[in-house]
Amino acid sequence: MQSHADPSPPPPETPSAETLQTVIFDGELIRRLDRPGPRYTSYPTANHFSGDFNEQAYQDCVVQEEEAPQPRDLSLYFHIPFCAHLCFYCACNKIVTRNRDKAAKYLDYLLRELDLQSLRFKAGRRVSQLHWGGGTPTYLDREQMAVLMKAIRNRFSLADDEQGEYSIEVDPRTVDRETVEFLRSLGFNRVSIGVQDFDPQVQKKVHRIQSEEETLRVVETARQSGFRSINLDLIYGLPAQSVESFERTLDQILAIDPDRIALYNYAHLPNLFRPQQKIDARDLPPPETKLEILRCAVVKLTRAGYHYIGMDHFARANDALAVAQRENRLHRNFQGYSTHPECNLIGFGISAIGMMGASYSQNFRTLDPYYQRIDQNRLPIFRGIVLAPDDRLRRALIHSLACQFRISIPEIEECHGIRFKAYFQDELRELAELEALGLLSMEDREIRVTPKGRLLVRNLCMIFDRYLKRERIPQYSRVI
Ligand code: SF4
Repeated sequence: MQSHADPSPPPPETPSAETLQTVIFDGELIRRLDRPGPRYTSYPTANHFSGDFNEQAYQDCVVQEEEAPQPRDLSLYFHIPFCAHLCFYCACNKIVTRNRDKAAKYLDYLLRELDLQSLRFKAGRRVSQLHWGGGTPTYLDREQMAVLMKAIRNRFSLADDEQGEYSIEVDPRTVDRETVEFLRSLGFNRVSIGVQDFDPQVQKKVHRIQSEEETLRVVETARQSGFRSINLDLIYGLPAQSVESFERTLDQILAIDPDRIALYNYAHLPNLFRPQQKIDARDLPPPETKLEILRCAVVKLTRAGYHYIGMDHFARANDALAVAQRENRLHRNFQGYSTHPECNLIGFGISAIGMMGASYSQNFRTLDPYYQRIDQNRLPIFRGIVLAPDDRLRRALIHSLACQFRISIPEIEECHGIRFKAYFQDELRELAELEALGLLSMEDREIRVTPKGRLLVRNLCMIFDRYLKRERIPQYSRVI
């Protein structure tokens, strides 16, 4: 099963805009190579962070970064974990509750964490990225959201609306028009909206009833209020999904014409994610159907003019992500793809992950230890890692594959002081096997992912993942 979603002439020496965006769906290859793998929003992935990394280690990294001649901009992530309803497919760190007092207490602690963090940075440090995720950030009421945003602005200097990327995840079931307008007035300029599937049967099976009208209302209001970019999230492989039903959803999505579409694979891992135990595995589409759903989606989206950015993401040709990819400026972090140069990221709230220079840190994942640490006036960090030179090298390679679909060997050698072919002998042997299958081409100075290899770029990244080779139990969703 092979479908050329966006045929183009053979790739020239330097990738043109067209070749960068071409993706070819090769069902046979995907079936053959499909295996569990990380999404590489970090390298090493969070399961390799260590409990030995403590507040002092974090502080040392902050000092090092702050003393740099030109400290990087900051990116702030706020995790708001509360949800009013449980979606059965959910793998997020969330707390399902109707008790709004819990959110009030959590906000209080978030503000205290903000104080503890901001004291470590020079006054007025510039922030060029802000993201509120969850859970459901709009579980907070308008007053609570205003308090949080005001506190952020009082402690950091947010770049102006043109330069800053300020995004929020919105659940259309929880917001009215006024709230969407209110979010824009707070300073958000990007919105990410969970849809997953419009089919009523699928929605019933996953316990997420959300009408097309509700989604449309949020999209229209966001556009009218001046949000710069609208992303819709979809999931394929959900119970009761069929090729026909998902095609209908895709048609509805295309009629809405979002700037970006994230198309995630549903990974049924009920032992890891308890809500998924409520899904009857017999309702899941069989692997062949799932693959066909993916094929139809890739064909439909690319024919409609969306460019495959990589790892689950599509964007309109004129969207900032697609432009950044063409200009080799695309980045990837915990929030997925980004147009901003690598910022130092501070994560606030339970389970939030930060990245400070060559280190990562993660907060406690549950409320009690998170609150206890803050009560002790300490940062609620429970694990992290300082990257060794080898980690940084491999992170750069994985980043380059995920964002640009290529590795420039001279650039890597110069930045990391290695001889590529000597350092990566084993990896090059593994890559050669995938080259024979048509996933990539290897030349003296460059490794380039072919259009056929792009849907399987995670497989290529996995070759450079030193930690993965030591793992015995797969903890990840499948690549497709
Ligand atoms: S999918 Fe989103 S809205 Fe649904 S339970 Fe999970 S975090 Fe909450």
